[in-house]
Amino acid sequence: MNRIHGKRIIVLGGAGFLGSHLCERLLADGASEVVSVDNFITGDARNLVEPRKDGRFVSLHHDITEPFAFEGPVDFVFNMASPASPIDYAQLPIETLRVGSIGTENGLRLAQNKGAVFLQASTSEIYGDPLVHPQREEYWGNVNPIGPRSCYDEAKRYGEAIVAAYRRAHEVRTRIVRIFNTYGPRMRLNDGRVVPAFVGQALRGEDFTVFGDGSQTRSFCYVSDLIDGIVRLAVSDVEEPVNIGNPREMTILQFAEAVRAAMGGGSRITFQPLPKDDPKQRQPDITRARQLLGWEPRVALEDGLRETIAYFRRLTEHSDPPRTS
Ligand code: NAD
Ligand code: UDP
Repeated sequence: MNRIHGKRIIVLGGAGFLGSHLCERLLADGASEVVSVDNFITGDARNLVEPRKDGRFVSLHHDITEPFAFEGPVDFVFNMASPASPIDYAQLPIETLRVGSIGTENGLRLAQNKGAVFLQASTSEIYGDPLVHPQREEYWGNVNPIGPRSCYDEAKRYGEAIVAAYRRAHEVRTRIVRIFNTYGPRMRLNDGRVVPAFVGQALRGEDFTVFGDGSQTRSFCYVSDLIDGIVRLAVSDVEEPVNIGNPREMTILQFAEAVRAAMGGGSRITFQPLPKDDPKQRQPDITRARQLLGWEPRVALEDGLRETIAYFRRLTEHSDPPRTS
């Protein structure tokens, strides 16, 4: 039996892209109850169509920067709540800082009161525009504290700091996952991230908008791999941060080629200005995840892209989002 079976679990930000996949995985692993707490600021109730069919699932509409409490035992608190795309957090800078600071502390208090494990969704943005490559967890990062990305990066760095403080001061059992670029069904077509941007452009027959000269790199992880890493980390006893991401690094130009190939041809490339502080390179060193969690990604970019394109294609053809595997 797995270590999620029979557990009562709170997912902060459960209506988002990653949170909704996590809720489904936890239900599939036999959790006794999964409660999503979300204010839908960047989430979507349609992401919860499948979990809502399960009597063990509850969706609460609540802003986690406001206090919240639960009757009865809680075994795990997963904190997935935060705007995550550069466009979202540029539009919601104060909300992003507040959910990363006050919201994270409210979640930690809940875990402290219940004796629950607290898992913090952190990010590769902790490393900023990294001067060390690939990024190992020991690297402290290169972040502009007042730049356009700082509301997100610094909220997430504060988030790690307060998680570490609750572990030291209150002995809360904490886990920190540093998530690298993850993609898949249920991303919002208009969230501005490069995967939905390029796939949407290809489906509409538009040119790819490559920012800068396209030489900057990213490493794309499929959502099912990411969720598997998160669950493995949650049930482990690993308290130090762990990178979860796919180490296959490529330039954004190469990524555009991959989308074009997956679509069977089409879009050309137009170049647009590179956003300020856009990281030049990013690739996770996943040695720690391999050694401590026995985790590594399984889904090839070509396969993940096929699933993602199929999802967006159905989404643009139907008003309701399709079922995802
Ligand atoms: P998302 O925007 O789809 O999901 C975030 C969810 O949090 C949304 O449902 C939103 O409504 C909710 N939320 C935000 N503020 C809230 C508040 N004050 N109270 C309650 N709910 C609130 O984004 P995502 O891609 O699913 O990201 C989930 C988490 O993973 C985030 O913490 C993000 O920083 C982290 N992360 C994601 C990636 C990625 O590639 N997707 C990479 C690094 C880190
Ligand atoms: N990007 C791009 N065109 C777009 C959207 C993004 O060239 O339409 C680039 C962006 O500048 C960045 C990379 O793709 O270098 C990944 O961007 P995304 O917003 O997906 O994630 P993040 O910058 O947070 O890694």
